[in-house]
Amino acid sequence: MKVLFRGIETSVARAFQRGERDAHGQRPLVQTGAGLGPCRHCLEILTEDQEKVILAFMPFATPQPYAEIGPIFLHPGECSRYEAPEPPGWFEHLEPAVLRGYDERDWIRYDTGAVVEGCDVSATAHSILEDPHVAYVHVRSRFGCLQCRVDRG
Ligand SMILES: [Zn+2]
Repeated sequence: MKVLFRGIETSVARAFQRGERDAHGQRPLVQTGAGLGPCRHCLEILTEDQEKVILAFMPFATPQPYAEIGPIFLHPGECSRYEAPEPPGWFEHLEPAVLRGYDERDWIRYDTGAVVEGCDVSATAHSILEDPHVAYVHVRSRFGCLQCRVDRG
């Protein structure tokens, strides 16, 4: 089975990069500091000293009981969406990575939850997506922050 690791949609990233309101109705912050983490559009790491857009993001089309909202970073300028059959190399350093499958309603499939070493993210995502009732997978950090989405490709 082919899969695609994807950053958030380009139109969504651009809207926040332009300063449109986030999932809490607030303007995204633009600042340096706030730690190290990936831009959720291109999946490149933003270091502590790089300027970044910081906002509350809901990675689902509509609000519903399982629609978690969490903090994400984006580059302040335009970057290219990550879309590839394997995750970026730095995923090997996710210690650990948390994977969850979601169904077509965007509800968590509790039988799919996995906490794995970063080097096992790809194999685990493939395994979860073998289940035809799983629509897609989220990869999250140990803090629960969304890293990327994995779809059948
Ligand atoms: Zn970026």
